[in-house]
Amino acid sequence: MRWIIASVVLLFAALIGSNIGWRFVFAPVLAWMLLKWMIASLRVLYTDTKYGGGESLAVSPNERTVFWCEECGTEVQLVVRGTQRAPSHCGQRMNERTELLDEA
Ligand SMILES: [Zn+2]
Repeated sequence: MRWIIASVVLLFAALIGSNIGWRFVFAPVLAWMLLKWMIASLRVLYTDTKYGGGESLAVSPNERTVFWCEECGTEVQLVVRGTQRAPSHCGQRMNERTELLDEA
């Protein structure tokens, strides 16, 4: 059943492409692929924030947690922990470093 639908779609696309122009076949396919890619990208952002059950915990006042990027050296101080996963920078996960502060 599935190959019948696929062959009908391909035949229809070939008819449109050869009679009207191939841009009318490839433009909707390209638009559909871009739309799928954009929705998938946004879904990754949503599942990234959902990770960890949605509970956010304040960082203890006598410790200092910093995430640093191995690639460019950017450092980010953690104020509230939303997830257990490290944030991303330069296309990779940042490294976590926790320092215990003096209780003076
Ligand atoms: Zn970076």
